[in-house]
Amino acid sequence: MPKKIGILALQGDFAKHQEMLWLLKIETILVKKPGDLHGCEGLIIPGGETTTLTKLIQKYNLYEPIREFAEEHPIMGTCAGAIMVASTVDDHRIEPLQLIDISVTRNAYGRQIDSFITQVDVTFLQGPTRFKTVFIRAPKISNVGSQVEVLMELRGNPIMVQESNVLALTFHPELTTDPRIHQYFLEHFFTI
Ligand code: GLN
Repeated sequence: MPKKIGILALQGDFAKHQEMLWLLKIETILVKKPGDLHGCEGLIIPGGETTTLTKLIQKYNLYEPIREFAEEHPIMGTCAGAIMVASTVDDHRIEPLQLIDISVTRNAYGRQIDSFITQVDVTFLQGPTRFKTVFIRAPKISNVGSQVEVLMELRGNPIMVQESNVLALTFHPELTTDPRIHQYFLEHFFTI
């Protein structure tokens, strides 16, 4: 298990990831500038708004530092974070980090009012066979590369995928009280 995980804290619900990691007794570093990545063993990119995230990552010159960090460290992106780690996004205003070979479509389930919570079957986690998934103006993963493993699906659509040291989820595990997905990230990605 790692000791210190960075959470990109430019915008969005980074504080909820921080609470989840505290619960799991992991120290957190809120990453707002390139130097904050030093000392982090992995990075979480939280939910938020990817048009804003793109501007802020540009403004604080974080694109290259995050890409370099990802060459050697695990990364987990949730919702907007999954859009940011993707290789292609259907919106030209978004500059994705291109860390995992997936294509995503923003706001693919509709508007804010179409946000929803649903139970999804999980086979790769210990404990209950269902996980409560929270979707808020969520993207859809429209295409996955041949090296990408699909871990969870909702009605035939991939909602949690991994490739090498990158994990991308279109929902928000940090908004539940179930820490198993964070635990999975901490237990399985830090031995790579
Ligand atoms: N709709 C947001 C976007 O596309 C993502 C929403 C979220 O992170 N909950 O940027």
